[in-house]
Amino acid sequence: MFYTTLGTSGIRVSRLCFGSLTLGPLQAGLSIAAGAAVIRRALELGVNFIDTAQSYANYPYIRAALHGWPGAVVIATKSYDYTAAGMARSLEEARRELDRDVIDIFLLHEQESALTLAGHRPALEYLLEARERGLVRAAGISSHAVAAVRAAAVMPEVDIIHPLYNQQGLGILDGSQAEMLAALTLAQRNGKGIYAMKALGGGHLAHRAQQALAFVLATPAIDAVAVGMQSIAEVEVNAAWVCGREPAPEWLAAVQGRKRQLLIEDWCQGCGACVQRCPQGALQLVAGRAVVDPARCILCGYCAGVCRDFCIKVI
Ligand code: SF4
Ligand code: SF4
Repeated sequence: MFYTTLGTSGIRVSRLCFGSLTLGPLQAGLSIAAGAAVIRRALELGVNFIDTAQSYANYPYIRAALHGWPGAVVIATKSYDYTAAGMARSLEEARRELDRDVIDIFLLHEQESALTLAGHRPALEYLLEARERGLVRAAGISSHAVAAVRAAAVMPEVDIIHPLYNQQGLGILDGSQAEMLAALTLAQRNGKGIYAMKALGGGHLAHRAQQALAFVLATPAIDAVAVGMQSIAEVEVNAAWVCGREPAPEWLAAVQGRKRQLLIEDWCQGCGACVQRCPQGALQLVAGRAVVDPARCILCGYCAGVCRDFCIKVI
């Protein structure tokens, strides 16, 4: 495995970050033991960086995977909270559920612009105070938007940025791949640690996954890349690719041809909450039911989290 330091944070991570959204209730819905085994295999292959979020509801998988693991592991998590009190609760939840005194990286989840950053200022202030007290090592944002990355790039108090970035700019809310790259380059110059998400464009680049991953890893502004994985075969293949090795044919065969998609169950009540939630405009109500446009959907799973009837899943 290759390792790097996230900007000027001093936090040393593997270039492959385990994106854990895929394991839990919003996506594969693996048992805790099965999900923990997938993470554990990644750790055995040298991955020491795990990305999660409060909204992924998957802290128990990470806690189980790390139980008894002797190595140091960096965990990044995120919360949508915008108040100081809310962020304090989110941080305490992460410390308790992950069984950690210190959370390595805590991000404001899914920022869209300078305006949303201003609206989340009390939560960020809380994280900065927590950083001072040693409860958090680094603070920052995650985002699908160029405007938010550009704004965070010039905020000295931001340590880490977790942007959406891929070869074709798929899923970027407000600009092109080139505009995101310019914002990331500025952020890197200003010392931010940057780990990208959606290198495979939510599955749209899966037919040339190795090349798409290599493209993001070869981008000088990017330190590491989070890849969502839900099987040991996916871990084996991604770890091999990041290390510049060819994966064993049996692992490659196990992942090839597996296509993820958004499933909307037929008991959908047509409430529209998922339509409102989708940042990509990929959902609409048709004849009283939610319908997805696969060309726009990047399989982020955010819609699944707001469906009170558990109708949506990425499978
Ligand atoms: S949130 Fe659930 S019930 Fe409401 S429209 Fe979407 S899928 Fe249907
Ligand atoms: S439909 Fe759901 S999974 Fe697809 S982009 Fe929208 S929120 Fe994400």
